Amino acid sequence: MTDLLQRFIFDDYQTRGEIVNANVSFTKLIKDHKYPIEVEKILGELLIATTLLTATIKFKGKITLQIQGDGPLSMAVVNSDQNLKLRGTATVKGDTKSLSFNDLIGNGHLMITITPEEGDRYQGIVSLEGESLSKCLEHYFKQSEQLATHISLFTRVSNEAKAAGMLLQRLPANGEQHKLDFQYISALASTVKEDEIYSLSNEELLYRLYHQDKVRLFDAQSITYQCSCSKVRCLSYLASVSEQEILGLLNNQGCIDMHCEYCASNYRFTKEDLSTCDINRQTMERTQ
Ligand SMILES: [Zn+2]
Repeated sequence: MTDLLQRFIFDDYQTRGEIVNANVSFTKLIKDHKYPIEVEKILGELLIATTLLTATIKFKGKITLQIQGDGPLSMAVVNSDQNLKLRGTATVKGDTKSLSFNDLIGNGHLMITITPEEGDRYQGIVSLEGESLSKCLEHYFKQSEQLATHISLFTRVSNEAKAAGMLLQRLPANGEQHKLDFQYISALASTVKEDEIYSLSNEELLYRLYHQDKVRLFDAQSITYQCSCSKVRCLSYLASVSEQEILGLLNNQGCIDMHCEYCASNYRFTKEDLSTCDINRQTMERTQ
């Protein structure tokens, strides 16, 4: 079973958790792009992190995690909606070979944007000074929400692409014992090996880590890779482009080509395609 997110709680500790794997979605996300492996791995981590964060937020809308920096990986982004439909892309400028997380991104930051269907947009910025994306996110939760959080992210791109991760988060409560409990649970979570998270079921993994504790798993939710681009969306975008620009493109190239940076789909619109739509009808008439 793959591409699932499953939440769990501990009966005796004020802590909630999530385990996620997204091998199929990760494979689809990188499939048609020919990214360097270092970039594929970061996109996998960003995919898992976005999934884990989506499940921490009670909202209807979208969440976007975007890395920006002055290093060879100038941009990487993944977005998700509340139903865990995700997509992502990256922009690479320069040689990424064998570079560490910090060297790939250079001076940069991670932007977390939450766009609810109703209400105000929220944007949080995390500086990317830690040695990994997971450490940066743990720091973010500690600073912004005062919530102790453990995040593990795993990606593999040789042979089959695999991506998985785990999150533990302390629920708001006071007391020294509460702190110690979280230290104990997260120390055990830190021992999870890549092979274990890829090969064991969630029940087996949690039993291996916490067989002395009572852990309750909830029903799993599916994760789907899905790009929101479409012919209709392209046409509605074209409707917002100036008439002059459309005319120029059609006269120079005979058609308008559009490319989706996320899923690498290509869309081509000829004068005839555009004239069958309501948009730019007048423009079409003028090019006759
Ligand atoms: Zn697309």
